Amino acid sequence: MELVKYRYQIQGVDMLGLVQEYGSPLYVYDGAKIEEQVNAMKKAFPKLNLRIKYAAKSLTNISILKLMKKLGVELDVVSIQEAHIGLKAGFAPEEILFTPNCVSFNEIREAIKLGVMINIDNISILEQFGHEFHNEIPVCIRLNPHIMAGGNKNISVGHIDSKFGISILQMRHLLRVIKTNNINVIGLHMHTGSDILDAEVFLNAAQILFDAAHDFPDLQFIDFGSGFKVAYRQGDVTTDIVDLGKKLANSFQNFCKDYGRELEIWFEPGKYLVSEAGYFLVKTNVIKTTPATVFAGVDSGLNHNIRPMMYNAHHDIVNLSNTNGTQRVYTVVGYICETDTFGTDRKLNEIREGDILAMKNAGAYCFAMSSNYNSRFKPAEALIYNGKAQLIRKREEMEDLLRNQIEVEL
Ligand SMILES: *Cc1c(COP(=O)(O)O)cnc(C)c1O
Repeated sequence: MELVKYRYQIQGVDMLGLVQEYGSPLYVYDGAKIEEQVNAMKKAFPKLNLRIKYAAKSLTNISILKLMKKLGVELDVVSIQEAHIGLKAGFAPEEILFTPNCVSFNEIREAIKLGVMINIDNISILEQFGHEFHNEIPVCIRLNPHIMAGGNKNISVGHIDSKFGISILQMRHLLRVIKTNNINVIGLHMHTGSDILDAEVFLNAAQILFDAAHDFPDLQFIDFGSGFKVAYRQGDVTTDIVDLGKKLANSFQNFCKDYGRELEIWFEPGKYLVSEAGYFLVKTNVIKTTPATVFAGVDSGLNHNIRPMMYNAHHDIVNLSNTNGTQRVYTVVGYICETDTFGTDRKLNEIREGDILAMKNAGAYCFAMSSNYNSRFKPAEALIYNGKAQLIRKREEMEDLLRNQIEVEL
């Protein structure tokens, strides 16, 4: 988003114009930014046989999936429904990796019928899989290397208390189950969480996977999941992908030499590809001054972006309507009947009732986590690609809220 003559625009498309056209609240995605991130990843691992599996859960709109497909990216899905949306978006089954956690074996059977690759993350399911499919269907195994990524236990999934993956400490048990059931393991996977700060964490975990790989002679790929960190505020430490690429490429190539074959290297970025491409535009309903604070109350809330309340996440906020106004201190809040603060003590260009505010980093886990709480409609979504804005989801209406409700005679 850039400021041109006091108006914010993306690829030449005026942001306030978008709100006029599609209403508010509105999610807007910059397709060029997504493309830039994809290219940055490809460039960071030049010599390797890289496959990028976009983590669809971060932003699941079918038009976004189609854009990923166009950019040569494949898919990582966490539910059978996401697999179906991926197929509908045009992905071939073999381009989709299904990485479920605690789903029923029936869901895994269904995914196998669709022809997608299964990533198994617990021994019980692996045993059921072995009884039923033996070596007919190749699988990937999700290991937990117990590397603590970042400081937040809720978004770090590789620690010892985590429910994800098969513990590296269970290797002997795992190998017994694989051997006894004659299971064909063609991939090893890890995903240590969403808060990796430096290459060293990745490399330590990678080394654990490399060591484990020697017990699996038929591997075709190693999947390092994600954890790429993007900046949410100025000065945030982010994953240096070029540095990571250099260091990991080195150890990966050494590993392949030891292993005796060139394997593919997979990643599953969600946030890295879409977070910064997203903007959430909301309209200011009220300016409310209390003895302590000036609140800007907007036409949205934790129903549309729960990250600030759920993760204490920071989203930069910009006043699009008064880009030259005097800076004042505001607490930006939602209209939900709960505490739903978007940002506390933010210095923003003076906000007037009716002004449109933009929240940044609204591409990943924002719309995807939205709900109908307080019986509010989910927002519309628009994608700007090749200099043109298109609606990719219409705003909900009353009938959407009532669709599955059954009014009984009492
Ligand atoms: C959520 C998830 C990702 C994506 O994580 P980001 O932090 O958004 O990049 C990748 N792989 C798996 C298995 C996931 O569950």
